[in-house]
Amino acid sequence: MSDQYDVVVIGGGPAGYVAAIRAAQGGLKTLCIDRFKTKDDEYALGGTCLNVGCIPSKALLDSSKHYEQMTGHYDVHGISFKDAAIDIGTMIGRKDKIVKQLTGGIKQLFKANKVNYIAGSGRLLKDRQVEITTDEGKQQVSGKHIILASGSVPVSIPNVEVDNKYILDNTGGLNINEVPKKFGVIGAGVIGLEMGSVWRRVGAEVTIFEAMDTFLGACDQAIAKVAAREFKKQGLDIHLSTFVKSAEVKNNQVEVIYEKGGEKHTETFDKLLVAVGRKAETEGLLSDDCGVKLTDRGQIDVNDECQTNVDNVWAVGDAVRGPMLAHKSSEEGSAVVERILGEHGHVDFNTIPWVIYTEPEIAWVGQTEEQLKEAGIEYKVGTFPFAANGRALAMNEPTGMVKLLADKETDELLGAHIFGAAASELIAECVVTMEFKGCSEDLARIVHAHPTLSEAVFEAAMSVDKRAVHKAN
Ligand code: FAD
Ligand code: NAD
Repeated sequence: MSDQYDVVVIGGGPAGYVAAIRAAQGGLKTLCIDRFKTKDDEYALGGTCLNVGCIPSKALLDSSKHYEQMTGHYDVHGISFKDAAIDIGTMIGRKDKIVKQLTGGIKQLFKANKVNYIAGSGRLLKDRQVEITTDEGKQQVSGKHIILASGSVPVSIPNVEVDNKYILDNTGGLNINEVPKKFGVIGAGVIGLEMGSVWRRVGAEVTIFEAMDTFLGACDQAIAKVAAREFKKQGLDIHLSTFVKSAEVKNNQVEVIYEKGGEKHTETFDKLLVAVGRKAETEGLLSDDCGVKLTDRGQIDVNDECQTNVDNVWAVGDAVRGPMLAHKSSEEGSAVVERILGEHGHVDFNTIPWVIYTEPEIAWVGQTEEQLKEAGIEYKVGTFPFAANGRALAMNEPTGMVKLLADKETDELLGAHIFGAAASELIAECVVTMEFKGCSEDLARIVHAHPTLSEAVFEAAMSVDKRAVHKAN
């Protein structure tokens, strides 16, 4: 007879490992199965986020930011570094160490919370049986509840074959061992901008090819415009409405053929990063007779509560609809376990913050001005530039602005958009305000310490009612 569990979680990323720990803490006999292998061919928990996503990219962003500050921004403070240099091997090694510390930490958390863990590939069979393939062979377990948390993988494009030596996906993009003289990127999305920033800061010439004619289409366009101007000034060469036709490795370089304005061009790079989006990972996950339906986009089909069409089979994180973000994934994992425990798990999809960790950072929550117009919702706008914030000037970080959108009648905060220093931290107070259905006046009446960057949010809130009402079209 197969081993029986209350909960079997397939996938040990932020969706799966959080669900597994919560389930075990709730007294449920829990198993988590994960197949991720590191570049050293070792199994590791933490999924994309910890191994080849959020954490390693932020480690590199941080190292490269220090270097750029030293080489270009400290002179205004009267500080000079004559022989500033960066050792890329050390930068990559530091990143690997942080990743190892965090992924090892999850293993410890599993032990401490009595989560069973099997390193291998899980496949859902019928009647909530799961077949596990490990290095030693196959075994079968069953779960009263199954949580599918298999995450996502990069999308590929025709005629551009990733070899992770010259043509890279996110995994290869995080393991470059010397500064490429010319670094090409396909896709001016989140990964393209973050990884393009890393390599530009340490000296690469960065060119980004973007198919769309709008820069950061999901962003409020007032913010996107200011950000585009700043990134251009920094040296990111972003080509919109540009279609890469092919990329080929020739003589240790990548030859890219692209079309722009109806004309074909050829350009050669030392490395090319492909960052054109991600798709749900379901390879090998579902047997033909397990009954779980996929959407026409290949995601696991779930309702608002993360239930699939099969009783007691749930799915969470990047493998299902909604934004592909670590915090959204973990929240879904927790909420599903609460539902299994008979509680009222809830995720508010209207208040999930987004952050792009460029310099300055871009962060937002809620609706953009474009979305409000399209929905016919009447709104008020409040803005404030960081150039008028004392702390930002003291920090030599005057770039960017805060933009708040509030309902015209009720003043409820409907969206907050920030491009500026520490935007990733500043957005949190807007998330809290929106979660509590607060209004711009609430933000404007809360005492903010002086001098802080958070006063830019406060000032934007104060400006909401001094501005003309924008009529919806
Ligand atoms: P994953 O983290 O992908 O984990 C799924 C796990 O399941 C993997 O380990 C996979 O190997 C395993 N698996 C899949 N199928 C099976 C199977 N059949 N059997 C066993 N195991 C299986 N998000 C943010 O919020 N902030 C960021 O700053 C951020 N930065 C990112 C940077 C990069 C470069 C990338 C690529 C992504 C980034 N993300 C970021 C997105 C974030 O990584 C994902 O949203 C998050 O990891 C999704 O969590 P998940 O648990 O659903 O999936
Ligand atoms: P993305 O969706 O953010 O951006 C992909 C970009 O590539 C888009 O602008 C798209 O128009 C463009 N594109 C698509 N096909 C193209 C083509 N053939 N030629 C040129 N451009 C093309 O995707 P991503 O940057 O790959 O990141 C994937 C996901 O990972 C993100 O959507 C996000 O959910 C997650 N992520 C989050 C963070 C963060 O939270 N800071 C960081 C990295 C990744």
